[in-house]
Amino acid sequence: MFYYSTNKQSSKADFREATINGQAPDKGLYFPEHMPTVPAEMLSNLAGYSKEEIAYTVIEPYVGDTISKTTLQKIVSETINFDFPLVAVNENISALELYHGPTLAFKDVGARFMSRCLGHFVQDNSRNVTVLVATSGDTGGAVANGFYDVDGVNVVILYPSGKVSSVQELQLTTLGKNIRAIEVNGTFDDCQQLVKQAFSDTGLNEQVFLTSANSINVARWLPQQFYYFFALRQWQESEPPVICVPSGNFGNICAGLLAHVSGLPVKHFIAACNANDVVPRYLNNGTYETRSSVSTLSNAMDVGNPSNFTRILEMFRHSFPEIKDVLSSISVSDELTRQTLKSVLEKYDYLTDPHGAVGYYALEQYLQQHPGDKGIFLETAHPIKFYDVVEPITEKTITKPDVVTAILKKTKMSFQMANDYSMLKDYLVS
Ligand SMILES: *Cc1c(COP(=O)(O)O)cnc(C)c1O
Repeated sequence: MFYYSTNKQSSKADFREATINGQAPDKGLYFPEHMPTVPAEMLSNLAGYSKEEIAYTVIEPYVGDTISKTTLQKIVSETINFDFPLVAVNENISALELYHGPTLAFKDVGARFMSRCLGHFVQDNSRNVTVLVATSGDTGGAVANGFYDVDGVNVVILYPSGKVSSVQELQLTTLGKNIRAIEVNGTFDDCQQLVKQAFSDTGLNEQVFLTSANSINVARWLPQQFYYFFALRQWQESEPPVICVPSGNFGNICAGLLAHVSGLPVKHFIAACNANDVVPRYLNNGTYETRSSVSTLSNAMDVGNPSNFTRILEMFRHSFPEIKDVLSSISVSDELTRQTLKSVLEKYDYLTDPHGAVGYYALEQYLQQHPGDKGIFLETAHPIKFYDVVEPITEKTITKPDVVTAILKKTKMSFQMANDYSMLKDYLVS
């Protein structure tokens, strides 16, 4: 399999090169040259296969011969060695819980897969590689955990000061060793912009071997398809589900759409957004206008310029009608997020996190307009990650998993920085 750049200027890359580069040299995103089809036999009998068999079959065509079969099998099983339960919330709505990994959010899958692939690719390198990543909250912890102690790889994480939850901040600032965190006085978009500037700085790239671990990296993006196959593997209804994905940078939902194009039966996709509503506005009136991000209760989705949307456009050959056919999107306010979180707990005894609440609300609205359909929302993080938001709404204390109790005792280590590229450059070079 080869990947081309969505800007069409750079030459094609295989999985190894695309993973190491992160972004294509022409600043486009790598996109697979063709979209493979999952064998019909497997699709019609997902429950008859193990998670590992399904994940390996899905990812293998994308990796091609850049990783041997036995190594890839090992990487895949280590990536998914926790549960992905589909839990019925009520008669029509189920939650796919993606928070049973080590940092309690769905990003563990992409980060674990990418760190293992990259570690494998650089094992014979004489030069260390520096993974540079911007986070709106959950990426940082997942990447820190995934890359912790991987030989030959240093990690630098940029996060917006005061805009991530305390659990998120501790997950990315307390590991030490090869993991360093920079606290930027700015927004997530500022962090993402600083990272992009570093990648396009030729002088810097001659001195430091940089790569990205943002969701634009194919090794983070592609394994997210697994969730959707695991959802269908547990789906008992005869009709395919509507799937609703709380979305920020649109990597997760873009992987879901790819799974669907590869044969997975899904009735419709909904991208549930918070007040950062670039995509809902696009799907409703056809104009795509990026904006500065605004802070909300679902901070991991506070993205004003969603990087992966380009891939959705590419997947459907930039055809607005085709996109509208498979994908809807709505924007959910903080007030509705609060109300939903509270009422779902009261009515169904199911506790969502703020991102899941956005997803639940969007799905419920859609199902009201499409009676007879049933759906799944992705519960993208454990509510405890956002206890500072959730507990005042529910007025109940969330039981802390042991990993959280342990992390709350640790001390944050970060480098504080203004939103200033020259400071970042100095830091990376030193
Ligand atoms: C990252 C994140 C999202 C948004 O996912 P994208 O792939 O960026 O659209 C949603 N919920 C949580 C909890 C996240 O961490």
